[in-house]
Amino acid sequence: METYTSPSDHVQLHDLLFVALFSEKDVRERVQELGQAITQQYQDKQPLFISILSGAFVFAADLMRAFDGACEVGFVKLASYSGTTSTGEVKTVMGLEKELRGRHIIVVEDIVDSGRTLHYFHEYLQAQEPASICTVAFLRKPEAVVFPVKVDHVGFDIEDRFVVGYGLDYDGLGRNLPGVYQLAER
Ligand code: 5GP
Ligand code: MG
Repeated sequence: METYTSPSDHVQLHDLLFVALFSEKDVRERVQELGQAITQQYQDKQPLFISILSGAFVFAADLMRAFDGACEVGFVKLASYSGTTSTGEVKTVMGLEKELRGRHIIVVEDIVDSGRTLHYFHEYLQAQEPASICTVAFLRKPEAVVFPVKVDHVGFDIEDRFVVGYGLDYDGLGRNLPGVYQLAER
């Protein structure tokens, strides 16, 4: 079986087949809308975008360029996933070097599944005493949220099925896909 076939309406990654869910155009239009909403919200506030690595790096890059104003960006690496299922444990792999006290923080996450990652990160952030915290998630699986987290802006709500593309991977592959693909039904 091929490891990778080039994207159109479907893509093969390792042993799994994924079908198109959102096109590059769908994604671009939605990210622009989110950028405009955040621009309105943060006039003259110079927010600090914090991108949760690795999955959110593509979304964060586009979102901050859709933001029209002065802003900064920082990165934190947290992980709770292995393969296509959550391992149930959130580990901070790489910390933030920025001073967060008094800052307006915009947390940028690729996808909210159980909510564990964001729940954990919120607790960490709150302890740093920022001026405000706003959370933006590119995708959210509403059926799968077991940890209560407030997400202020969501790109798309999706069903509870594993997705790849636009920064999201399946065991390392698929992050470069410009659209979003979901696991095909067996
Ligand atoms: P949570 O902590 O909300 O359960 O999981 C969030 C993290 O798990 C996301 O940041 C993402 O890295 C990973 N994740 C959750 N669902 C998916 C999915 O459908 N596809 C991929 N590639 N990663 C996912
Ligand atoms: Mg993530």
